[in-house]
Amino acid sequence: MNLHEYQGKEILKSNGVPIQEGIVVESKDALLSAFDQLREQTGTEMAVIKAQIHAGGRGKGGGVKLAKKRDQVEEIGGGILGMMLKTPQTPGGMDGEGKLVRKVLIAEDVYAPDFDACDEIYMSILTDRDTGNNVIIYSTEGGMDIEAVAEETPHLVHNEFVDPALGLQAFQARKIAFNLGLSGRAFKEMTRFVANLYKSFINADATLVEINPVLKTADDRILAVDCKMSIDESALYRRKEIAEMRDINEEDPTEVEAKKYDLNYVKLDGNVGCMVNGAGLAMATMDIIKLSGGEPANFLDVGGTADAARVEQGFRIILSDPNVKAILINIFGGIVRCDRVAQGVVDACRNMDDLNVPIIVRLQGTNADIAKEIIDNSGLAVHSAVLLEEAAQLVKKVLG
Ligand code: GDP
Ligand code: MG
Repeated sequence: MNLHEYQGKEILKSNGVPIQEGIVVESKDALLSAFDQLREQTGTEMAVIKAQIHAGGRGKGGGVKLAKKRDQVEEIGGGILGMMLKTPQTPGGMDGEGKLVRKVLIAEDVYAPDFDACDEIYMSILTDRDTGNNVIIYSTEGGMDIEAVAEETPHLVHNEFVDPALGLQAFQARKIAFNLGLSGRAFKEMTRFVANLYKSFINADATLVEINPVLKTADDRILAVDCKMSIDESALYRRKEIAEMRDINEEDPTEVEAKKYDLNYVKLDGNVGCMVNGAGLAMATMDIIKLSGGEPANFLDVGGTADAARVEQGFRIILSDPNVKAILINIFGGIVRCDRVAQGVVDACRNMDDLNVPIIVRLQGTNADIAKEIIDNSGLAVHSAVLLEEAAQLVKKVLG
């Protein structure tokens, strides 16, 4: 689950990480009073107004702007709030339609009084599956596109591996501060920053914390100016206050719908929708789709105990994706009986008026023979297959 910048910063702050302070605002009427409150709190004379959407690169699309005076706050804030913001990371990129900005963060200007004397650093923490460690990735080249830095000047991007059982060691935090070329107060602040950032990562059950930029101010303070945080969904049960931060406006509507029915659904960009029971079989089915010349439109695991009602729901969710040109249903009937799944598919097809994509159903296991009969006798344009290979051939055929 992804968080907004302002939510991530709340978590950082509660773990002792210094942040660029700000107040989040949802309506134009509240912009000025938020600025006044922030000025009172921090003494800032200027405000950075930052669109809160789940995508980075907001600066590039005009979603981060500086209001140099109080009387610019309403104009600039009002321009960002409600805009369709396009960034390289919103769907379709800079040529897409963008994302609606429903909230803005009015933040203190932390680059003042001397913008040029500030340094932007990059830092992120995530899990490295290859080594089974957490890794802190950092670079002196912050503020910009870190992917480009990694590509063009890889020697400027450093990794520090942290054994999750041992946690971050003091010498590691010092090594990072040293490699970033810091000294004096900035060095000391950085070691504390890294330690508390690591603490935030652990305490929030995060899968990613990315701070770009971490700012070294003219007076050698270190603070988080931006924050991108993703939380492990499986841990949300024990992080109730974080679970409440979910913003379904920012999520794919079909994924939100799928969650309601406890379906494991991830939307992808391909043309063949698939519905499978069991994650392993779902992965294998996606491979089969690729081998037969298609691209999976989604990952959908209806679970080991899928009943007809859930199958019908899954079916509807797949069909709501306009890119879907064919659907492959691959169910192994262990606990679930194939005939019930078949009936679910037939019922769903009959209930849908605008069903115009070919459907291939492969049911194997308990009552598979009855299931095949139900499908074949339904009078619907549903192809049934017994072997996975047959199913793959059918996908190839319907895709033409
Ligand atoms: P992103 O574009 O979505 O990554 O948003 P960021 O929060 O990283 O902000 C983008 C850029 O805005 C930063 O790299 C800074 O150059 C600028 N910026 C952010 N905060 C401030 C601030 O307090 N003062 C000034 N002058 N610029 C800022
Ligand atoms: Mg940034």
